[in-house]
Amino acid sequence: MTVKNQIKELSALLEEYNYQYYVLDHPSVPDSEYDRIFQELQKLEQENPDLISANSPTQKVGGAALSKFEQVTHRMPMLSLDNVFEEQTLNDFMQRAMDKSSLAETAFCIEPKLDGLAASIIYENGLLVQAATRGDGQTGENVTENVKTIANIPLKLRGENIPPLLEVRGEVFMLKAGFNKLNEGLIKAGEKPFVNPRNAAAGSLRQLDSKVAAARPLAFYCYAVGVFEGDLAGSQFERIQQLKGWGLPVSEEVKRVAGESNCHAYYQAIQEKRPGLAYEIDGVVYKVDDISLQEKLGFVARAPRWATAYKFPAEEAVTEVENVEFQVGRTGAITPVAKLKPVFVGGVTVSNATLHNKDEIERLGILIGDQVVVRRAGDVIPQVARVLVDKRETQITREIEFPAVCPVCESTVERIEGEATIRCAGGLYCEAQRKEAIKHFASRKALDIDGLGNKLVELLVDEKMIQDPAQLFSLTAAQISSLPRMGEVSAKKLVNSLQVSKKTTLARFLYSLGIREVGEATANNLANHYKTIEAIENAGVEDLKSVSDVGEIVAKHIYYFFRQEHNIEVVSSLIDAGIHWPLIEDIQESELTLSGKIFVITGSFNKMSRSDIKTALQALGAKVAGSVSKKTTTVVAGEAAGSKLTKAQDLGIEIMDETAVLALLNA
Ligand code: NAD
Repeated sequence: MTVKNQIKELSALLEEYNYQYYVLDHPSVPDSEYDRIFQELQKLEQENPDLISANSPTQKVGGAALSKFEQVTHRMPMLSLDNVFEEQTLNDFMQRAMDKSSLAETAFCIEPKLDGLAASIIYENGLLVQAATRGDGQTGENVTENVKTIANIPLKLRGENIPPLLEVRGEVFMLKAGFNKLNEGLIKAGEKPFVNPRNAAAGSLRQLDSKVAAARPLAFYCYAVGVFEGDLAGSQFERIQQLKGWGLPVSEEVKRVAGESNCHAYYQAIQEKRPGLAYEIDGVVYKVDDISLQEKLGFVARAPRWATAYKFPAEEAVTEVENVEFQVGRTGAITPVAKLKPVFVGGVTVSNATLHNKDEIERLGILIGDQVVVRRAGDVIPQVARVLVDKRETQITREIEFPAVCPVCESTVERIEGEATIRCAGGLYCEAQRKEAIKHFASRKALDIDGLGNKLVELLVDEKMIQDPAQLFSLTAAQISSLPRMGEVSAKKLVNSLQVSKKTTLARFLYSLGIREVGEATANNLANHYKTIEAIENAGVEDLKSVSDVGEIVAKHIYYFFRQEHNIEVVSSLIDAGIHWPLIEDIQESELTLSGKIFVITGSFNKMSRSDIKTALQALGAKVAGSVSKKTTTVVAGEAAGSKLTKAQDLGIEIMDETAVLALLNA
């Protein structure tokens, strides 16, 4: 393609983007994409100055004013700003200003670059008489009625020495919180949400019905003076202070600074503050502070030479989805992850983005091969924000297919209705879940293996000494003491506690298997209902649902778990390793003395923890509830017991203190 045609093509693309952005308030691509093309065009034009047309997007400001509004001709053009994206280019800008300066020190007025749209407001004798948008810089839209509805804009100025004519310029923007609320409302009403607060502010200010504009959470900060009569300070910073004095809103973040390092420090500081600010900013504006030096520096086609915007790294960028892979998490959740063509966004190179689950994939309507907008704001993990459906014509795309088996261990993939996440059912066997499974197995409420902490489990797995919980029981003291930071004594202790832990209960054993959503209470109920592990292994979903507290989803988790050959193998090797428990019938006859009783535990205890008391009571057949009611049989009240104790007293329920409950448990 000839350079001429290339310039023509880029200009046409930018014109289209300008139209979507400035006229429709609905951009189809992120700003970074627009800026990239803009810079490409600028570069070509610089290399071929004879090909620059006066109509080029690089020579113009904004978009044309909408004809549905009365037009306002600006008495002084409203320009855009040049952008810099690197520290060096900012230094060059500052150097050029200093070169022109006769002052000992060239100061800069530094301001947050508010992400809204520019407006001009004219005050005559202190009264607001007209407000307009920037439009194409020469002609804007008369939005006086709408601007009057913005809460922080005074209709009348206050204070001393107000100029008889004063045009203030500033940014109309939307607060982040208001933006989110507005979009929620639009979505609910079945309307198209705004892409970002800037476009929402522009769309709201350019409403024909000022009642609609009034209902939108808009705000305004001044950052410049246009035409005026009378005297004003000779410094940008001081002028801003004067505006503030007359009751006009200005940003608290405006500072006057000299010296490169101070200028850069401001940028760093405000970038850190950015996530906590109530409004969006997209960079920092550096302005020569001295107005006479500003005049000396003058303008180019679309921007002043005395100011520049140093933009933050873009938070959104366009890239391509090259593939979708599936990752298995520590708890078996299988997550689709988009593999992206690497793209620089939010200050880092991003090549992966989680797609969360099937619902999210459907919401985005994403296909492999799609062009997408990736968003990374602050430290938040990168997300696919939206798909550029229009670009599909030129892309080869295909549907995302979910795996039928776990990509790590090939166990069945569990899909439970009503749950967005799919999971690997090979909990005890799957390499991705191994560490978590063994940690859980050893934990206090499970097999309670003394001396086997989380760190040690990780080490044992990393060193490939164990692959499933059953292999724990064949570890020797010599093997264990060969690990870093493990002495012979603690190794022997661990082997001993592994032996001790082999004697357990069916409920604890079931709990230790880490079946999804099978907590202590469910494990207890299952053990009491089925009495043997074989009976549970063989139970169908409907049958499992007959156990108290077991609903459809839990029943399916249990069912799938025992349908995995690998899991069954691990269970039998655990039993082969010597894990055993007394038969439930034996316990029930001799020990379940508290069946049918409902306990509530409140306050704090000295000799036993609250959760140990709970476990011990449950082991004796009691139910432990969270709140006191007429059905409560006994309230166990420790120190500083509060409202639950009072309620028990009111209802005349039996109350036990720590000594009494310990006596009961020991008996
Ligand atoms: P700009 O937003 O880069 O900078 C100029 C504007 O900054 C001013 O007009 C003013 O409104 C604002 N501003 C905020 N704080 C200021 C301060 N303290 N002092 C002075 N001005 C301040 O330029 P622009 O001409 O308004 O818009 C061009 C930009 O808009 C592009 O760089 C691009 O990022 C975006 N754009 C995007 C698309 C798209 O399709 N996504 C299309 C067109 C434009």
